[in-house]
Amino acid sequence: MRIGPRVEGRLITAATVNPKKAHLLRYPVDNFALELPARRVTSLTRRGKHMVFATELGGGGQPRWLVINPMLGGRFQIVGGDAPVPATEVFTLRVEGKQELRYLDFRDMGRIYWVSECSRDVPAWDGQGPEADSVGQMGLDVFRKRLRRFRDELKDLLRNQEFLAGIGNAYSDEILFEARLLPLRRRTSLKPEEEEALFRAIPLVLSRAVEAILANPNYDESKQDRTFMSVHMKGGKTCPRCGHRISQLGSNREPLNFCRGCQL
Ligand SMILES: [Zn+2]
Repeated sequence: MRIGPRVEGRLITAATVNPKKAHLLRYPVDNFALELPARRVTSLTRRGKHMVFATELGGGGQPRWLVINPMLGGRFQIVGGDAPVPATEVFTLRVEGKQELRYLDFRDMGRIYWVSECSRDVPAWDGQGPEADSVGQMGLDVFRKRLRRFRDELKDLLRNQEFLAGIGNAYSDEILFEARLLPLRRRTSLKPEEEEALFRAIPLVLSRAVEAILANPNYDESKQDRTFMSVHMKGGKTCPRCGHRISQLGSNREPLNFCRGCQL
């Protein structure tokens, strides 16, 4: 469900914080609960891994931003005020129209900032590279130039927010599978045609994922559904492309998956 249209332009009428989860707020809790009410959400956008709620006073002016990096277990819920509050609730904003916007976190890893200047108050904000989903518009030449500024292993490179903003563990596995590149290859070892394969894989994997998620009426965000993915979380299963067994490195919680049969 798209949250933006349900909160944009609306007034926040109340804010509460779950005392058991208050430590996730990078801001004094009392102020958070006092300062959000009577503000209007002017827009909801994404920057890299952050969801950015722009707000201003109800009568206009004094902009401030609620910036949330949900990490692995953070989710947003928008429901009628009478819906039961899950134990994973971190905070709830009551929004005009008898709705509640809730931020839930089942891993307590999310980062929540309430700031008057993102670039000063959100760590590593200014270092974020272009959005990963802008790679198509960037074009191959610009992408290549950008790519060649980094020397990391490909898996680390894709997760490096300074290279491109927004890609995490799961999508880096999927992108490398699509591009047929092994995750521990160094960027410096890529041939020009492999750079191009990476360039093509990024937008393809991201747009396919959005389609798969939107097309699934039963998609449950809280279950972190990865069933549409090819290799991520599929360690030990059969590669859909070549039939080889999918490899896994790292922990079950944060695995690195790839296929030795068809990734080079
Ligand atoms: Zn394979």
